This record gives sequence, structure tokens and C-alpha cells, in this order.
Amino acid sequence: MPATPAWPPKSLPRLFVRQSLSEGASVALEAGQANYLGNVMRLGVGGELLVFDGQSGEWLARIAEAGRKRMVLAVERRTREREAVPEVWLAFAPVKRAQTDWLVEKATELGAARLLPVITQRTIAERVKLERLEAIAAEAAEQCGRTTLPDIAELVGLKQLLDGRDASRRLYFADEEGGEPAISGFTPGPALILTGPEGGFTAEERAMVCASPGAVAISLGPRILRAETAALAALAAFMAIAGDWRG
Ligand code: SAM
Repeated sequence: MPATPAWPPKSLPRLFVRQSLSEGASVALEAGQANYLGNVMRLGVGGELLVFDGQSGEWLARIAEAGRKRMVLAVERRTREREAVPEVWLAFAPVKRAQTDWLVEKATELGAARLLPVITQRTIAERVKLERLEAIAAEAAEQCGRTTLPDIAELVGLKQLLDGRDASRRLYFADEEGGEPAISGFTPGPALILTGPEGGFTAEERAMVCASPGAVAISLGPRILRAETAALAALAAFMAIAGDWRG
């Protein structure tokens, strides 16, 4: 007896839409999305896809109207509730644009709830384009099956991040100069993981971070990881030890 194929089929395209979704809603797609469905996925009127708005879960939709650069979807029914992602935030010093894009894409896949770009004394990138990072996070969420998007905060200075920090959210500071092994350092609960720039934190910054209430220095092993590697290694380790990889 052939197995019943999974529903919805994994092959259905998935799109993030800004409009709030509900049963029977009509959604006009952005030109880029209409082009993607029409010309890349070769879908026309009647074609099925999955959509999510980051708030209300995932929905089955059908193409109701299709024009050259225009498409309107009819939302049929919810296929999945909004999933809960672990309360883990990643504060990282932006690096070169391509590496920062990559970091945001991977951190979305790994399940970060919030991304906080931080300026430190040795940060090379003085500004980040939020809209661009949000588009990268949306595409990564479409790919990895998330129904939520990580919130991406405005760029702030390290002192501002620490001063504005809610002490009930545990601060894990990835310190290449040594710290708690991740396996014993990370514990379940709201977390803020902080990783440094390519040139590392200055001694003054290290002192400021260590003085922040409840801060825990975490070692990511004996090798010096590149800034973007360290950010993702710390997030992955947290998810495995204290996050939703534990099932
Ligand atoms: N300061 C270093 C240097 O001598 O150039 C390197 C900084 S490292 C490229 C960038 C950031 O990644 C560090 O600030 C730290 O947050 C993190 N990092 C890299 N390797 C690490 C490790 N083995 N353990 C903990 N954090 C690490």
C-alpha cells in the first residue's frame, strides 16, 4: 500500500507576505513575487502555494488572478499554527556586507528570534541596510519552513546595548580569550548571545561586558573563529544545548 503523500506537499512554493492573512483573504503580490511564481515556478490561475505573514502561521493559497507583473491570491485555509522559536537573540558586530548577509540568512535558519547589529570599537561596517537584511531573513524563512521572521533591530553601540539590556535575559558573551565551555555555560531561558568583530573586543569593552549583570563568558573551543562563524557556532550550540533542537 503506497504511503499517503505528505500534505501540504513540500514542493509547494512558500512566500512571506506583509499583509495579514485570514481565511478568504485576497492578497495582491509584489511584482517580484508575481514574477517568481509566474515565470520561475510557471504557476498560473488555480496554482497552489503556501503563504505566511510572520504572525498567524502558514496558509494554503490559490492564484485567483494572474497578469504579466500582477498576481492576486485567494487564501483558503491555515495549514500550520505559528511556531514558537526559542527566546534567543543574537547581537553581532557587522562584518563585510556579503558575510553579514550570510550571517543573517543562517541565523534565521537556525531559529534566532531577534538579530541586533552592534557597533564596537573595531567594527568595520559602520552601517547596515535593515530593509536588505529583512529581505534576506524573509527569503531564508521561506526556504527553511519558518512561519515567523526574526526581528532585526536598528544598529546600536555596545554601551547602548548593555545599558538597555533587560537583566532577566541572560547575556552570553563569546570570548576567544576563554570562558565557560558552551555545554555547561548555556542554560534554557531567554538569552542574548554577543559576538565580536573581526578584530575582537578591546580590553575596555571586555571589561564593560563582563561587568554587565549576569554576563557569562562562553568559549567556542580552542581555535579563533571568524566573526560570522563564531556568531553562528554560538547560536547553533545554544539551540542544541538549551534551545529547540532538544526536541
Ligand atoms: N580578537 C581576535 C584577534 O585576535 O583577532 C579575534 C576575534 S574573532 C575573529 C571575532 C569574535 O568571534 C570574537 O570577538 C569572539 O566574540 C568570537 N570568537 C572567535 N573565536 C572564539 C572562540 N574560540 N571562543 C569564543 N568566542 C570566539
